[in-house]
Amino acid sequence: MIVVKSAEEIAIMRQCGRILMAVLDRLRAEVKVGIKTCRLDTLVVEETKKRGGKPSFKNYRGFPAHLCVSVNDEIVHGIPGERTLEEGDIVSLDAGVLFEGFHTDAAITVGVGKISQRAEQLVAATEGSLSAGIAEAKCNAHVGDISGAIQEYVESRGFSVIREYTGHGVGRELHEEPAVPNFASNGGPLLRNGMTLAIEPMVSAGAWRTRLAANLWTVLTSDGSLAAHFEHTIAITDGEAEILA
Ligand code: MG
Repeated sequence: MIVVKSAEEIAIMRQCGRILMAVLDRLRAEVKVGIKTCRLDTLVVEETKKRGGKPSFKNYRGFPAHLCVSVNDEIVHGIPGERTLEEGDIVSLDAGVLFEGFHTDAAITVGVGKISQRAEQLVAATEGSLSAGIAEAKCNAHVGDISGAIQEYVESRGFSVIREYTGHGVGRELHEEPAVPNFASNGGPLLRNGMTLAIEPMVSAGAWRTRLAANLWTVLTSDGSLAAHFEHTIAITDGEAEILA
């Protein structure tokens, strides 16, 4: 069931989103050569709590951390730990915040030091595809319009969209209906004012197929290609998409 939010509920999600955006800004500033990924996890806890929120991911379906940290060929659900970031890595940081009963969910991919031109192009294409998808998130459009815009943007730049994982509704639950695929689906649910969606293109520089790491969480590209991930939580208000986080 798709849950449509009231203006009051969206106002709470707006506050929740501000916390998450501040947390991600802080993380982006901390990404540098030599930092351990577990340090970024600790920062999420500190930065979220001091703003009155709670990290959404810890223990969600058993996930063991507060932040997903996915490096290079890791696409999503990387687990922070003793790994140290190195010059030329690209690192995807995906976090969620719970505030007054509502979640927001967002992700960025950041280069560590100087990255290759190919990596730069991949990151730019992924971020650009998120904007292209959000531009289609309008009242009376369909979820498939978002999906199609993302796929077209990514593939026209020579990259491929991950198909086995999708965006989703978000609100009182971290994952709500509808699924928001990153590849063209046929129409799909109608978009309406009050819908809140996490739109999140995951993009590979090579094949779109994935494999699961031995930890049973981390999702990697099947062929070892670099991957990038950007995500915003949006609300459809007054017919248009408003970025909440
Ligand atoms: Mg998400």
